[in-house]
Amino acid sequence: ADFTNVSINKAVETVFSMIGRQFEAHNITVHLQLEENLPAVMAPANQLEQVVTNLLINSRQAFDGCPHGQWEICVETGAENNTVFLKIADNATGIPDELFEKIFYPFFTTKEVGKGTGLGLSICQTILANMNGKLDVFNNQNGGATFIVKIPTQKKSN
Ligand code: ADP
Ligand code: MG
Repeated sequence: ADFTNVSINKAVETVFSMIGRQFEAHNITVHLQLEENLPAVMAPANQLEQVVTNLLINSRQAFDGCPHGQWEICVETGAENNTVFLKIADNATGIPDELFEKIFYPFFTTKEVGKGTGLGLSICQTILANMNGKLDVFNNQNGGATFIVKIPTQKKSN
């Protein structure tokens, strides 16, 4: 794959230009909080977009079957300690305690047949491992899940 300097904000914007209408169609309000002047990361651009896509589709699908309400997804980027992060937080169902490890296994899915392959998160992990990055998850205090992507930034070589 082609590793180049890519902007995580650009990846987010590209993905929303492709699948943004899904969120409107489901009455999900998306909040974008993209920090300006983020350092670039070294990655194949399409793979970074794949990670963002998989996480956003999961958040969208997490609302399937939820009672109607204020459905929201917050997407935030930022930088700290030589890494850039991308947080995707939803206020859907969250993840049951006993599933926290299993959700990353290839082919693990809680979705009905035809809605999920169970590969999304394991693909994210594989892609991120190639960028020396990682994927964390936790449940929010007020319900829903937050997935955090962390990728090391490029060392400036002067
Ligand atoms: P799939 O989406 O095909 O089921 P994934 O690997 O993308 O496969 O996700 C695995 C499982 O992780 C999902 O079936 C779901 O149970 C859980 N999951 C992923 N993202 C979320 C989320 N935002 N909220 C609640 N559960 C989630
Ligand atoms: Mg998925």
